[in-house]
Amino acid sequence: MTMSDDRDLQPYREKRDFGATPEPSGEESTGAELEVPIFVIQKHNASHLHYDFRLEINGVLKSWSVPKGPSLNPKDKRLAVPTEDHPMSYARFEGVIPKGNYGAGEVIVWDTGTYRNTTERNGEPISVDRAAERGHITFELNGEKLRGGYALTRFRSGDEEAWLLVKKDDEYANPECNITEEKPASAISGRTIEDLRSSR
Ligand code: MN
Repeated sequence: MTMSDDRDLQPYREKRDFGATPEPSGEESTGAELEVPIFVIQKHNASHLHYDFRLEINGVLKSWSVPKGPSLNPKDKRLAVPTEDHPMSYARFEGVIPKGNYGAGEVIVWDTGTYRNTTERNGEPISVDRAAERGHITFELNGEKLRGGYALTRFRSGDEEAWLLVKKDDEYANPECNITEEKPASAISGRTIEDLRSSR
């Protein structure tokens, strides 16, 4: 796994005042890098509730904002709007971003785990950063809540770049289960958005 180019995190840092928000600046050491890349989905109760879907790619968390969150139904196409790269240390962040700060509101780690890149081009495996550049990534999640295959696919919506997050039709697909409703709590602390709100 290559180290991140620190310039990748410049937009992340420019949006935040680390004296005022409890979020990590990304300068802290994350220790030895794992062989297996991670994913994290943070439920974020900002001005609009959304789920931040993040994949470790080249030492940063590539990020998409998913208004409706992930689905277990392969027929659902969930809009995923790209946002700035986040530092690896953000993967464990839960807390309340104070009023007046970028993204103010509660954040919990709704799901996290490892993933495996399964993207192919012309029948040959390609790297996940190449896949992201090309606008189509397929991967298998091994999380607490989400398992199995998913795809992220870029499209254009007017002048904007947008992606779709879709569950692969495999043994972990389940059209009957509304996973975000059924399992609202943090995968690492058991807390809900409401728990954080009442502790403000
Ligand atoms: Mn967010």
